[in-house]
Amino acid sequence: IFIVLEGIDGAGKSTQAKLLKLWLEERGYEVVLTKEPTDTPFGKLIRKLVLTGGREGIIDGAKISHEAEALLFAADRAEHVDKLIKPALESGKVVISDRYFYSSLAYQWARGLDLEWLIDLNRFAIRPDLVLLLDLPVKESMKRIRTRSIKTEFDKIVELQKKVRENYLKLAERFPEIKIVNALEDVDGVHRQIVALVEALLEK
Ligand code: C5P
Repeated sequence: IFIVLEGIDGAGKSTQAKLLKLWLEERGYEVVLTKEPTDTPFGKLIRKLVLTGGREGIIDGAKISHEAEALLFAADRAEHVDKLIKPALESGKVVISDRYFYSSLAYQWARGLDLEWLIDLNRFAIRPDLVLLLDLPVKESMKRIRTRSIKTEFDKIVELQKKVRENYLKLAERFPEIKIVNALEDVDGVHRQIVALVEALLEK
């Protein structure tokens, strides 16, 4: 079973991923919790790209194109699928990933790339059984991440996050595995919504 958590920054993905892992383990499942960008060399390069330099797409002082950025995310994902996700699923474990290719579609599409090209690029990626889209207004997510967010170019980030949220909601219409979770509720309330969706999946 392969479950993915998606949503804008500050939606609560990592908190909910941990709670879901515990819930599944209490029911006897072996669970691998993972995330993208990964800790592989490609993932580290991406973190340099998106988390430093005010998210300007800069690696070691050089500005890279949005296409190159998308290819880097895809390369990271190819390693993730090959080295971790596939082997874990084959040995019967449940994999929970904090972000997956839907992030690439939502974010890189928001940066102006062609959605169909992005979908083609990610065709190698195993389709998850369930994608939990933690949806909430950007204003609320910004309140939550104020402490950890980069202060520079704040407005630009807000505009990007708004576009990303819209993109996620559009993707939910296209990919039937995406289920929308109301992330405005408190931690417990969001967890309960997730459990209901996972129970429905397990009963299938
Ligand atoms: O908090 P997290 O580890 O999910 O942070 C990853 C960062 O990378 C986020 O700030 C997100 O905006 C960015 N990102 C991106 N494009 C992706 C995936 C993540 O810009 N495809």
